[in-house]
Amino acid sequence: MMSDNSKCILYIEDNPYSRTLVRRILEARGYTVLEADNGVTGLATAQEAMPDLILMDLSMPDMDGYETSQQIKSIPQLQHIPIVALTAHAMRGDREKALAAGCDGYISKPIDARALPGQIARFLNKRQEVEGESCT
Ligand code: MN
Repeated sequence: MMSDNSKCILYIEDNPYSRTLVRRILEARGYTVLEADNGVTGLATAQEAMPDLILMDLSMPDMDGYETSQQIKSIPQLQHIPIVALTAHAMRGDREKALAAGCDGYISKPIDARALPGQIARFLNKRQEVEGESCT
């Protein structure tokens, strides 16, 4: 069922299968989904598109999700955008490390296709409305 979401989600993730899965789930709910397969591109896409929310894989080559989150949160125009980390690691401290890097929350991998839309909606609703167009 389509719902009335015109929100834009940027998914920064090096795994193409994860990207495709999340895109399908969220587009079916009416979201616009942008993808970046590495942190550098993700940072540039965030600046260009001003998404409503960023989904962040933590484990990426070169610039990982922690570093990418820190960089995004260091840019004043991007600070308000919620970053939701995808924590695949069962390792202790992973989530704390994500929050310390500036992430606003986390979702556990593997992604639960049924739960994801609700999880995303919760993070979007927490966010304060800011002026300006997104996904331009
Ligand atoms: Mn990864």
